[in-house]
Amino acid sequence: MASTFIIGRSGNQPFKITADSVSNEHARVTIDNNGVWTLEDLDSPNGTYIRNASGEFNQVYKKIISEDTVIRLGRGGHHGCIFTGHQLISTPGDYSYEFRNLKKALARQQADEAMMQAKSERNGWISKCSGMAAIAICALLGSIDGINIDPNTRYILIASAPIIVGLLFRNDKAAMAQLRQKRQKLIVCPKCGRPLSEFDVENMICPSCKAR
Ligand SMILES: [Zn+2]
Repeated sequence: MASTFIIGRSGNQPFKITADSVSNEHARVTIDNNGVWTLEDLDSPNGTYIRNASGEFNQVYKKIISEDTVIRLGRGGHHGCIFTGHQLISTPGDYSYEFRNLKKALARQQADEAMMQAKSERNGWISKCSGMAAIAICALLGSIDGINIDPNTRYILIASAPIIVGLLFRNDKAAMAQLRQKRQKLIVCPKCGRPLSEFDVENMICPSCKAR
């Protein structure tokens, strides 16, 4: 059975929208007989957006979506409205489906962060050990007849080895910061959009708006 939702301040979606940058008839979602979801912007002045895997919202005009797609109508914050496609077909006020998805998203996020952390620690050790390696190489070279490293060169080599090796791994910090940013954008309340703690996700309730 195909169904069509006109979404907006005077739309027929099963939840109320009052945000001031959302039009009366802002967007349309059609679910066809094959279960294909299509989202269309109805020439709204403030636009229709969907969230990508990194948590950024991109403007769309007509797009195939899924019931897990996070949709934003209008501007961000209090001026717009953010909801998951599933909200159109669920009992109003029931966010259990979204919280179950959040649990999965959090598990993926934790795995990514743990992998990055391990990589960064390993690289940290390599940087630390490189000073020792430089000492060993100097000693080795010094033991070969005919090669004479003067003390200044030796000092510079040993002191700069960890810095040079550290530079090779400088992207680790940036990647970790990016992961934390992603967590802030993805692990958020499906109703009010505020960031949720791991505890909140585990308990499947938002402490701010009490959505569950
Ligand atoms: Zn909330």
